[in-house]
Amino acid sequence: MKIAIVGLGLIGGSLGIDLRSQGHEIIGISRQANTCQIALETGVVDRASMDFEIVKNAEIVVICTPIESIAPTLTKLIPYLTPEAIVTDVGSVKQPVVAACYPLWSNFVGGHPMAGNTKSGINAAQADLFKGAAYVFTPTPETNAIAVEILRELALSLGAIPYLCTPAIHDRAVSLISHLPVIISASLIATCLTTEPDTLDLAQKLASSGFRDTSRVGGGNPELGVMMAKYNQTELLNSLSIYRDRLDSIIDSIERKDWHNLEQILQTNQAARPKFLKD
Ligand code: NAP
Repeated sequence: MKIAIVGLGLIGGSLGIDLRSQGHEIIGISRQANTCQIALETGVVDRASMDFEIVKNAEIVVICTPIESIAPTLTKLIPYLTPEAIVTDVGSVKQPVVAACYPLWSNFVGGHPMAGNTKSGINAAQADLFKGAAYVFTPTPETNAIAVEILRELALSLGAIPYLCTPAIHDRAVSLISHLPVIISASLIATCLTTEPDTLDLAQKLASSGFRDTSRVGGGNPELGVMMAKYNQTELLNSLSIYRDRLDSIIDSIERKDWHNLEQILQTNQAARPKFLKD
């Protein structure tokens, strides 16, 4: 298949490597000549250009730009697309993307590979990034079912595990397991910073693996945290509101010295946690 990838960063570049290794013809589009050059030299793409005209005759186009530029990128692509071209994206929030893109292109299917790391740009692209990872597609009742099936097969070919759900359920689920943890973890670090200097100094010296685990996502790239809050505001606020209730309930148990209730809460959580983790 002829597959075009727009935005040759971590996700776009990694997709290029894997899809090209399966024999697909990969066309890359970047805003920078240097990125095109690197993508060609490192075998991420067969051809690369800064000119959108290069997507002509592509059967599948994957938009791998930051969320805010997905719909504007699709608008620029449309003059060069054949009517049957399937367009998908990889943005980590789906409702605003699907709402903006489906009216522009009826063969649009929202997508989100749940793989990545903290690196970015073409030099971060790597083989097998999607192996074993969930890859969510978010069709609506109007979405072309054949396009969804073709993309599902493509995800399977990457070694990913495809899931189908509505954009709304996707955004609610990722708000719980991805966006809420970032805010909670950030609040944990902020709480530690409120203590007086001597205690803070000791706490910093004593911090070990528990703090490393619980602070990791809250101490990451601020731009990503803002992006989650900006594009998934409603679901994140809803998750935070439920979280505040759960925290109040734990505070209440501790204040009332209701150790039995506290233990029951913690036992329920201990039993539930493995179901969220693959290993
Ligand atoms: P990235 O490494 O920064 O790559 C994004 C690429 O998009 C850049 O390399 C840049 O390529 C291009 N770009 C940047 N700003 C643009 C703009 N305003 N207009 C057009 N193109 C632009 O980021 P990424 O991690 O691959 O993320 C890309 C998408 O994947 C995002 O929508 C993100 O939500 C989603 N995602 C990320 C992860 C993750 O863990 N990183 C996981 C799942 C999904 P050029 O400069 O070459 O044009």
